[in-house]
Amino acid sequence: MTSFTGSIRRALGLTAAQRGRESFDMSAQHDGERFRNVKPRPVEGLGKTLSIVWNILLNKPAGTTPAGALPVDALTREQLQAAPDRSLYRLGHSTMLIKLRGQFWLTDPVFAERASPFRRFGPKRFHAPPIALEDLPPLRGVILSHDHYDHLDRETVLALAAKTGVFLTPLGVGDRLIEWGIEASKVRQFDWWQGAEIDGLAFTATPAQHFSGRSLFDGNSTLWASWVIVDDALRVFFSGDTGYFDGFKAIGERLGPFDVTLLETGAYDAQWPYVHMQPDETVQAHVDLRGRWLVPVHNGTFDLAMHRWQEPYERVIGLTAARGIPLSTPRMGERLDLASPHRGEKWWREVAETESARESRTPLRRFFCRQTRQANS
Ligand SMILES: [Zn+2]
Repeated sequence: MTSFTGSIRRALGLTAAQRGRESFDMSAQHDGERFRNVKPRPVEGLGKTLSIVWNILLNKPAGTTPAGALPVDALTREQLQAAPDRSLYRLGHSTMLIKLRGQFWLTDPVFAERASPFRRFGPKRFHAPPIALEDLPPLRGVILSHDHYDHLDRETVLALAAKTGVFLTPLGVGDRLIEWGIEASKVRQFDWWQGAEIDGLAFTATPAQHFSGRSLFDGNSTLWASWVIVDDALRVFFSGDTGYFDGFKAIGERLGPFDVTLLETGAYDAQWPYVHMQPDETVQAHVDLRGRWLVPVHNGTFDLAMHRWQEPYERVIGLTAARGIPLSTPRMGERLDLASPHRGEKWWREVAETESARESRTPLRRFFCRQTRQANS
């Protein structure tokens, strides 16, 4: 293959898809062509897909992005190095920095301005990360759940490569990293229920109900997963992205109970129930997993759905209170002690609502509104 066609194939995301056909036959999650969920995803017609795109571009309600600045606790490397073991810091969306046995682990690192293949288009972050990428301390490892842009940012992982010991990924995601130039010796890829013990910690890739892909041509060519992290008696579950499914019960039975579950609570919508959870499903998943403290993640950083940006927090608060489940909502950058979590403040209520937010609209919608006003005047 010439390097030119190689670059085209890489740009289209075809290489990982191709490799998938050759080397994932052993995986029960792979059908010989693509990865798949346990329960097949309902087939959606072109009409439904077009209506989702139409709604996202033109029917976004007000308030899906915050008006004012979010409170973010800035972090320094010194502060992190001095922090006790079992500290967790949410750096945004599904990016969490966890200190265990004196070393740092980072989930789904995204420091990019946008969760998008494009620099100037796509969901823009609500807040700066609490610490700059270059200020992060050396990482023992990066844990990836899947290859979507809001979980895997190419520039971020390339910037982290030199200071990272190991990248733990679901099958196929590691191939992408290697194609991007990360040393193959640093990449470890796992099927569901597989894992590794590293420096006394146990990591297991566990099932999720989702999908993958970074272009129009590479859908489901890499696997998606949730993760279980065990440090002696401390057990933590990280959902990655997932719809509600039977798998939570199985994970809870085999690897639970969990002291803390980091569960996706955001970017849900009745139009795509299969791939993300409504808050009531998040809470049920926490119960199925046999979780104690619930930390809602996958919210507060990117506008990826049709709900108000604070809605995931408000809904999950009501639901957990009704079921007597301890909920923790740390600010971005605020330390959470995994061994003894605190509830956190309702920090999202402090973010000022301004006129501009109530009018918040996508660029395309603003364009159409302007055209309509001009046509009517
Ligand atoms: Zn995703």
